[in-house]
Amino acid sequence: MKNLWITEESKDFRYGYRVNKSLFSGQSDFQKVDVVETAGLGKMLFNDNLAMVSEKDEFVYHDMIAHVPLFTHPNPKKVLVIGGGDGGSLREVLRHKSVEKCVMVEIDKMVVDACREHIPQTAIALDDQRAELIIDDGIKYAKETSEKFDLILVDSTDPIGPATPLFNVDFYKDLHRILNDDGIVVSQCENPYFELEMQKKLLSIKNEVFPKVFIYNYANLTYPGGFWSFSMASKGPNPIEDFDAQRVLDSGLEFQYYNQHLHSAAFALPSFQRKSYENLVQNP
Ligand code: SAM
Repeated sequence: MKNLWITEESKDFRYGYRVNKSLFSGQSDFQKVDVVETAGLGKMLFNDNLAMVSEKDEFVYHDMIAHVPLFTHPNPKKVLVIGGGDGGSLREVLRHKSVEKCVMVEIDKMVVDACREHIPQTAIALDDQRAELIIDDGIKYAKETSEKFDLILVDSTDPIGPATPLFNVDFYKDLHRILNDDGIVVSQCENPYFELEMQKKLLSIKNEVFPKVFIYNYANLTYPGGFWSFSMASKGPNPIEDFDAQRVLDSGLEFQYYNQHLHSAAFALPSFQRKSYENLVQNP
């Protein structure tokens, strides 16, 4: 067992994690799902051999996908998470007292069940009274629902398999329709080293549909390159100009990664990114 490794690899690189034991392995209608206990990063979820979550650093991703828009919107009450089967985004959303309801639409029940059983650290809030779990395709849900939301988090896998149409203009038109007037959508937006063209495509799509588009960064341990981005599209609130740092302090919430200083700092882009996204974002 000492030399058992799980690897995430692409054409040009390979990331490996030493595995103590395999906890779950299954093939759903959508993807291969694995949960392993690693030697260095605690339990990890892999979908189609791509790292989704590690216990050691999941707080970075989930703090940043949730709290940045939740503290940008003036009064978020209804939130939709698309994807996010590990439950970490929903967990962070429900820490906000203003939130009355969080709907999570995940296509793959196997991911949710595996995380409920093996990674309770992220799945812990799935049974909260304010949570509604729907096992369905997020594309279909966004097209058909008559519900409206203040905030939508697209917590998706990479644009392959069932997540491919999540990187499409029709999907964002549907999200625009189901957002209230001050609504904001934040999406997993890959990384600027390996996926710059994908980032620019997603930013262009959002610009076609929303009046304000931003990108913000965070540093994490698990995803290739260690430096990742979320994109934000807003019908109204500006995450820098309209941000009230006092609200973060008054919330009484404690975070492992997010804070009021990091909120604004995350929108300050390195020069190579500023140049790459010219005319695509309204970052300072
Ligand atoms: N934090 C992760 C990352 O960036 O690697 C994403 C985690 S979460 C597990 C992603 C989830 O999106 C997966 O469980 C996958 O099943 C789900 N997903 C992919 N396409 C979807 C779709 N069309 N509708 C709803 N959920 C989808």
